[in-house]
Amino acid sequence: MPEETIFSKIIRREVPATILFQDDRVTAFRDINAKAPTHILIIPNKVIPSTNDVTPEDEGVLGHLFIVAAKLAKEQGIARDGYRLIVNCGRHGGQEVYHLHMHLMGGRPLGPMLMPAG
Ligand code: AMP
Repeated sequence: MPEETIFSKIIRREVPATILFQDDRVTAFRDINAKAPTHILIIPNKVIPSTNDVTPEDEGVLGHLFIVAAKLAKEQGIARDGYRLIVNCGRHGGQEVYHLHMHLMGGRPLGPMLMPAG
């Protein structure tokens, strides 16, 4: 069994978070350190540490992350102007929490996707 992170405690509501959506497969809550006016994390309820650990049986839940992202973007009023979905993986990807998550960010122009190559 992969190791749990604080995100499992958020799913079980053992630590506080602003949960905007939850069903039997995914949970979405506001990022505690928002980097945009809207910054939401959408995570599978099942612990998948990173995209390196994804298997074919995860196809359904990973597709569901996008469905929930689109629904939340509409609800948050950012769908028309657009937004960014990010999934970081590993050290070079800047992943901090090893429970796969999709960042939904919007509410202002987000600028170029990456810093210039160095
Ligand atoms: P990443 O760098 O892709 O692993 O992103 C991890 C994200 O989790 C960061 O944006 C953090 O601000 C966010 N985060 C960490 N702990 C919490 C928490 N307890 N509640 C909400 N967001 C959190």
